Amino acid sequence: MLTAAGPATDERRAQLARNLARVREQIAAACAAADRDEAGVTLIVVTKTYPAADVIRLASLGVTDIGENRDQEARAKHSACSGLNLAWHFVGQLQRNKAAAVVRYCDAIHSVDRSELIPVLQRAAAASGRRPRCLIQVDLGEPDGTAQPGRARGGALPSDVGALSAEIANAPDLELAGVMGVAPLGTPPAPAFAALREVAMRVQEQHPAATWISAGMSTDLVAAIKAGATHVRIGAAVLGERPFPR
Ligand SMILES: *Cc1c(COP(=O)(O)O)cnc(C)c1O
Repeated sequence: MLTAAGPATDERRAQLARNLARVREQIAAACAAADRDEAGVTLIVVTKTYPAADVIRLASLGVTDIGENRDQEARAKHSACSGLNLAWHFVGQLQRNKAAAVVRYCDAIHSVDRSELIPVLQRAAAASGRRPRCLIQVDLGEPDGTAQPGRARGGALPSDVGALSAEIANAPDLELAGVMGVAPLGTPPAPAFAALREVAMRVQEQHPAATWISAGMSTDLVAAIKAGATHVRIGAAVLGERPFPR
């Protein structure tokens, strides 16, 4: 297993600590401005493209929740980071042939966006004796309908969320946790987050325990918290800009 103990002067750890402190301050300020309790917002640090050694450093800095978007990479990091008591969140687009694999190590799957995934997830959950939380990813639209590099379009149409949430709620080994959304680029995020919140409220009317609203990334976390996000997914602001955004 890797270790973050390293030399007393672990520059990378110091850098991560500074970045984390800045993000935590932003979250605290956004909560204060929105008159919300900070305890109601969970920071998920998205470590995609960065090594397991960074995950270990983050754990030593008090991070409890890690996000990943690719199965192979996530699986390798998860096994390199065993014993750290982290919660793993899958936030990437979910291919049908990867859905079962993800269930084996993820505590929460944020990207359930179509019906065909649900029986696959259910079977994998039953087989592994796990009960993953499932969030429905909601398509919040793009201003001009074009695909955005790095923000591959995904998500269920808001009109399909009711049926999907019933299917997840009826799966005995899946736990419907709530909804997830990615705001479109190139336009202020507030309307998209407001739309997501509305979808979330409709889901909660039918499923009161499905309280999670996973929204907000490095550049739009303040708007997301204002709109009620319970889980923010932050990558670049903690780990640094990725050479290839994805
Ligand atoms: C990469 C990613 C994030 C984190 O994005 P940053 O801009 O690096 O904060 C959040 N959510 C999803 C779905 C992602 O793929």
